[in-house]
Amino acid sequence: MKRTFVGLLAFAVSSAAWAQNYSGYTPASQKKQEEIEKKWLTTTDFSRFRTHLTALTSVPHTAGSVQNEKVRDYLVETMEKAGWKSTVYPYDILLPKEPGYSSVSVVAPVRIPLNNQEYVLPEDPYSAHPDLWPGWNAWSGSGNVTAEVVYANYGTKADFERLEKEGIDIKGKIVLARYGGNFRGYKAKFAEQYGAAGLIIYTDPADAGYMKGLVYPQGVFYNESSIQRGSLLTLDFTGDALTPFEPALPLDGAKKIKRLKPEEVGLHTIPVTSLPYGSVKEIFARMTGKPVPAGWQGGLPYTYRLTGGADLKVNLNVQQKKDMVRVYDVIGKWEGTENPDEWIIMGCHYDAWSFGSTDPNSGTAMMLALAESMNKLAQQGIKPKRSILIGHWDAEEHGVIGSTEWVEQMHDELKAKAVTYINLDAAVSGRNFGASASPSMKQVILETTQKISFPDSSKTLFEVWKGAKKQEPNIGNLGGGSDHIAFYMHVGVPSLNAGVGGPTLYHTNYDNLTFYEKFAEPSFQMGGMMEQWVGLLSLRLANADVLPYDIPRYATDLKTHFEAAEKQIKGYSPDFKGFVKVQKEIKELDIIAQTFDKAMAAQLKKQTKTAAQMQQINAKLRALEKAFIDEKGMYFGSWYRSLYASSDPFSGYASWVLPGIQYEIEGKKTDKLTEWDGRYAGAIQQLKNQISELNQLLK
Ligand SMILES: [Zn+2]
Repeated sequence: MKRTFVGLLAFAVSSAAWAQNYSGYTPASQKKQEEIEKKWLTTTDFSRFRTHLTALTSVPHTAGSVQNEKVRDYLVETMEKAGWKSTVYPYDILLPKEPGYSSVSVVAPVRIPLNNQEYVLPEDPYSAHPDLWPGWNAWSGSGNVTAEVVYANYGTKADFERLEKEGIDIKGKIVLARYGGNFRGYKAKFAEQYGAAGLIIYTDPADAGYMKGLVYPQGVFYNESSIQRGSLLTLDFTGDALTPFEPALPLDGAKKIKRLKPEEVGLHTIPVTSLPYGSVKEIFARMTGKPVPAGWQGGLPYTYRLTGGADLKVNLNVQQKKDMVRVYDVIGKWEGTENPDEWIIMGCHYDAWSFGSTDPNSGTAMMLALAESMNKLAQQGIKPKRSILIGHWDAEEHGVIGSTEWVEQMHDELKAKAVTYINLDAAVSGRNFGASASPSMKQVILETTQKISFPDSSKTLFEVWKGAKKQEPNIGNLGGGSDHIAFYMHVGVPSLNAGVGGPTLYHTNYDNLTFYEKFAEPSFQMGGMMEQWVGLLSLRLANADVLPYDIPRYATDLKTHFEAAEKQIKGYSPDFKGFVKVQKEIKELDIIAQTFDKAMAAQLKKQTKTAAQMQQINAKLRALEKAFIDEKGMYFGSWYRSLYASSDPFSGYASWVLPGIQYEIEGKKTDKLTEWDGRYAGAIQQLKNQISELNQLLK
């Protein structure tokens, strides 16, 4: 296993020096693989992406709807036709599958019912679809309240603390908060904690509307009727609300799963809904309280105020039911010829808030095209050595539920068999490539993006991605907000999240084919490019003699993360002596990982191991990431078991590396730092020991 990228960076080596890098391959296998990849790149049919995207996103298809079951059937049919063995996994989950009743009106000093759905636009025939729903937030409580209003900026923890400092009483009021700054579910959580009677969330024109540029359909920004929908679920685990740690297997199935009662779970109780800025302006226009502090003013043409005053009354009425609803994951499998029990898994959810042309089904359409191209490759006699799996997840939008239930069901198998999980949610939404990954997956991303031509240019994907000025493109750390969560943060499967992005009308009824064709990706070339890259990456992983994980990167990245954490802690606790045990372990890890890298490179050159020995080495490699899986888990939620990364429990989306420690930092605490030094040192020591065992096997 050759890995040179980080080390050589300091010497400003040109990309050509490692352009031929095939980590994990013997010279003979590399030659074969180069042929396979050449064939693969000529097998992809760029027109199929559009065909599938059109078929998948012609009607709205929310999780739990009949329309979404039709999408499921299309997935099964397409995969089967392309020769992929497909299995449907049903789950019975608690789900608010429809908006129910939802209305907002100004009732005093004047009576104005407020619009809560996107306008029908002559330029966009999809906007007239009869099955479209008003704006809503899944997991709202039910209630009918009439009250005064308070403006809470983005509704973050800090914003609510500021209101308290300003002496604003939120009890019994309807809070108005704009989208941005945190996960919307936390706006509801904080509003409820401060005693609000209800919450209205809206998109401010300063954040995504006319202050940014032309609005839809002239441009890509939210018009006065565009509404962001979305889940409010904020539990201390991911997945079905009633079955943490367990798969939500069908109620009528043979295996009975113990379920919590909905009232035990701590769901939101106040009514919450979302409005467009064209509607909330009727409220803002009539507010009379104290002007807002700096940074709180938005883009509506009024001075924003903290309170509406006693004369302004708003009615908010939300009646939303939660039922047991059956949802379905579809898993397609391309059985490996030599190591069928080693799995390369890619996935994207298929449920959408409306049509889902960018989010999520651009990813779905690309994976279907990929499934078909792989079939053509197989007809030329080329089949992967390891198995490739394609997961189509249901009910992601309501709380990353379908993928989490599958991971919980397949927990033990995934632990043993999964090589990687590649998340492709909304993966073809524009032309700007981006990726985030666990450390061990970073190198193979860098290597494979160099093999892909970027459409309408003479450059590779890698070159366009890194830009003219940089040596190395930036690969982020995995956060929350999509289907990699359970794979990576609960089981410890090395994961990555990647795609091409662009303008977005995120979670509105306008995320449809008209928007896609006009603004998101009019060239229809990026679907083909992403298919080429994901296919090539999968084949590279599937056929490698040794799994091409970047082992030294663990040490490099850990060093950076611990230095950053220590700096943060010293900021509020100058006497902190640092993570002494961890630092010692990282130093040793670095040496052992370098030894492994050299030994593996030498081994691949001379190739003296039997197939059985190679299999043993690969099994040990798959186990490495599990060194970070800690049964006790995090203090903010024991379901989150990865010591390495989690989603930010205060904002939902952002990435937290070293989450055990980050949680202490967030509360400016020091009492558990010694404990964490021990727990992290223990994990790194385990990783180190496992790599040492590999080094023994390579002797
Ligand atoms: Zn999505």
